[in-house]
Amino acid sequence: MTIDIDLFLAAVATAVRDKQVPVVDLIAVQTRDPFKVLVATILSARTKDETTAKASARLFKVAPDVASLAALSEEKIAHLIYPVGFYNTKAKHLVKLPESLKIFANKVPDTIQELITLPGVGRKTANLVVGVAFQKPAICVDTHVHRILNIWQYVETDSPLKTEMALRQSLPAKHWIGVNSLLVAFGQSICRPVSPHCDICPLEKKCPQKGIRPRKIPGVKMDKNSTLKFVSWNVNGIRAIEKKGFVTTLPDFDADVICLQETKAQPDQLSEELKNIAGYTSYWHSAERKGYSGVAFYSRIEPSAVHYGLGDAEFDCEGRVLTLEFDTFYLINIYFPNSGENLTRLDYKLRFNARLTAFAKELETKKAVILCGDFNVAHKEIDLKNPKNNVKNAGFTPEERAWMDGFVAAGYVDTFRIFNQEPEQYTWWSYRFSARAKNIGWRIDYFCVSEGAKTKVKSAAILQDVLGSDHCPVELLYRID
Ligand code: SF4
Repeated sequence: MTIDIDLFLAAVATAVRDKQVPVVDLIAVQTRDPFKVLVATILSARTKDETTAKASARLFKVAPDVASLAALSEEKIAHLIYPVGFYNTKAKHLVKLPESLKIFANKVPDTIQELITLPGVGRKTANLVVGVAFQKPAICVDTHVHRILNIWQYVETDSPLKTEMALRQSLPAKHWIGVNSLLVAFGQSICRPVSPHCDICPLEKKCPQKGIRPRKIPGVKMDKNSTLKFVSWNVNGIRAIEKKGFVTTLPDFDADVICLQETKAQPDQLSEELKNIAGYTSYWHSAERKGYSGVAFYSRIEPSAVHYGLGDAEFDCEGRVLTLEFDTFYLINIYFPNSGENLTRLDYKLRFNARLTAFAKELETKKAVILCGDFNVAHKEIDLKNPKNNVKNAGFTPEERAWMDGFVAAGYVDTFRIFNQEPEQYTWWSYRFSARAKNIGWRIDYFCVSEGAKTKVKSAAILQDVLGSDHCPVELLYRID
């Protein structure tokens, strides 16, 4: 299929009219200064626009031109531009920049061949500077331009460089300078790298959609006989994993409901991006104490009700339990207390556990119950690397294990062990002593179901390859009928 590029880019221009202008274009418009455009472009690689804008502003306040940049040390530059991606490497490049510009009379050159001789300047950066700062013909091909033009099958290439060369042959000159900022804004907002928002895209009917999987929109009704995917993950701080790309990688789970524990944030500490991940509705139950405990759901199926806590102030102030109610089951997301060093909170934990079991039993009189989360207990010796050394430690005391025995006896099934009886299947590793690399861990994160729902469990798994926390996620596939 050959697309009409004029029509496609015009539709994109309309769609992104109200979106943020990419930071480098903004700096170009505001300053008309090739030096600032070049430096901001270097800073912008692998960095969010918002971070680039703040780092550029800090640096330009101290070093608005080549001469003042020459007066700064590498350490000072690194300090000013932190936390842009690879700030140490970028500081190394920027400290060498004034020296490299001497052969160009201390001015930023305006050709790609000259620009790529400068430290930290590749073809993409050079094209952007030539086009944006000097308004000369250039095509900046970044990952968005390369990706989207391949989705449209306007080019069929396997690298940004090949895309640039193909575009130099086929793209009308009037689009060369503008295509980058248009497709960056479009790629960040609608045609996103993961789960593009085709449902709101003006090109949906005309786009070849090569190689993409559009997002599923929220509010999808559950069909009879469909299988739902649930993922549970103790993220050890939602704001910490946000910095590791959680917002863009969450759709990769392709889960219908994602259950998080230890979010450590109150609603007013959450960014808009975290609260509004495309395709999902989020639900939060936070501790009263800041930076502590907390659970959350992201769901792309609409629950009939949301229940906060256990109905007991002693436990609910710690934001440990959140329940979504669906037509045929409850999904309870739990962050069990840790017994603490010297077991100072063991009594509290045992009271919580008893209350939680009673809560689940009460719900089970109405429909099936799925419980998931960080149980903070390894049930059996097979569930941790060094059982003998840990009998007196939080998470493996006789009292905690006895509660888990009673929980299982009460009819709750540890779904992972339906399918897997192998040792060394862990979900948590200490950050110390390279424990994860050596697989010295504990299995303390579970999906359990009420006895009657056992036949609906299709699979249960540990997602050991997912990084970002000291826990890895666990997964359950559950059949609805
Ligand atoms: S229809 Fe989907 S894949 Fe095509 S441009 Fe729009 S968002 Fe991208």
